[in-house]
Amino acid sequence: MYRGSTTSHLTPNGSRRLRTIVLALACCLVTGATGAQQAGGAQQAGGAQQGAGGSSPLRVVATVGMIGDVASEVGGDCVAVDVLMGPGSDPHLYRASAGDITALRNARLILFGGLGLEGQLGQVLAGLSGSIRSVAVSELAVEEDRRLASTVGYAYDPHVWLDVAQWADAALVIGSALAEDPAMSAECAAAIRERADAYHLLLDELDDWARRSLATVPEATRVLVTAHDAFEYFGRAYGIDVVGVQGISTETEAAVADIRRVADLVVERGLPTVFVESTINPRTLQAVIDGVRQRGGTVGLGSQLYADSLGAAGTPHGTYVGMVLHDVSVITSELGGSVPGLPDSASTWLSTWYPDGDPVLRLASAGER
Ligand SMILES: [Zn+2]
Repeated sequence: MYRGSTTSHLTPNGSRRLRTIVLALACCLVTGATGAQQAGGAQQAGGAQQGAGGSSPLRVVATVGMIGDVASEVGGDCVAVDVLMGPGSDPHLYRASAGDITALRNARLILFGGLGLEGQLGQVLAGLSGSIRSVAVSELAVEEDRRLASTVGYAYDPHVWLDVAQWADAALVIGSALAEDPAMSAECAAAIRERADAYHLLLDELDDWARRSLATVPEATRVLVTAHDAFEYFGRAYGIDVVGVQGISTETEAAVADIRRVADLVVERGLPTVFVESTINPRTLQAVIDGVRQRGGTVGLGSQLYADSLGAAGTPHGTYVGMVLHDVSVITSELGGSVPGLPDSASTWLSTWYPDGDPVLRLASAGER
C-alpha cells in the first residue's frame, strides 16, 4: 500500500469504529524555540529528553500547513508543531529564512511533502536529512503509479492533498512518523495511532462527500479553471476537468497564448466562473475574464480557493478539513451544483467552528471571498 523506507510500519485499521474525534485546534507556531542550540543543531537530533517519558512534546517542524495541521490533530499534546510556510505562502517560490534553518536544525522530526513541492527549500531539507529524522509525507502516501506527471519542471505533480483520500493516507504516514519516533512514549504512541485512524476515517468520509457534491455540477460546466495547475488530483478524484492558466509551478508567468486558450474554452463551454487561489496574484485570471469579455461572453471571478496554503490560523480555513469543505462547497455551488449534507464524522469539526447557523451554506456562500 505504501512505498518508501523512511516510515515502514503503517497500520491503517479500516475496521475500527468511528471514534469521537477530539480536535486539538490550538495553533502551535513555535517561534521562541530557536535561540538555545544554534551551533550544535546538527547533533541535537539525539536529544534524549524530548518526549522521553511522555513529559515534553516532540518538536516537529512541518513545511506546509496541510502537513502541520494533520500532525497537530493526530499528535495532540504529544507534539509541538512549527509550520514554516504560513497562510498565503507559495511553496513553489518559498525561500528559507535564517530563522527557518534554525527551526529545522532544532527539530526532532521534519515532515515535508516532497515530490518537488518545497522548491528551493528541498535542498536545505536534503542537507539536513542525514542528521535529523525527515519524512517525505506525500512521497510515502502516494505510490508512484498513483502520482500524476508534472508538465513543468518536476517529475511529479506535488499537490497530492487535493485528493482527500490521498491525504487520508498521508494522515497515517504522519501518525506513524510521530508514533515511531524513538523518543515518543508508549502511551503517546498508542494515542497517536488511535487519532490517526479516526482522522483517516473522517477524511475518507469527506472524500466520499466531495465526490457526491461535485457530481451535482451539470456536465456542461464541470470544468474548473484556476490560475495554476494545482487541482489535477482533485479533478481526477472528483470527475471534473481542470484547466490551469499557469502550469503546475507558479515560477513561470502565464503566457499570452495560454490566456487566449483559456478564454476560448470559457466561452465555448459557457462557464459561469473561474477561480483564483489564495497564494496567487489574481491578475492572470483577470486577463482571462477580460479575454472572455472581448469575445462577447461573461464570466465571474469565483471565491478564492485554498490550493497551496491553508487560510489564517485560528479560523476554520486554517485547518485541512476547512480547506476541503470550503473548496468543494464553492466549486460545487459556483459551477451550478448543490452541496449535500456533511457526513456525521464531520460533526465535531462543525460544532467547534460553527456552533450556530448552517455551516455548509456559510462555506458555500459568496461572503467567503
Ligand atoms: Zn502549487
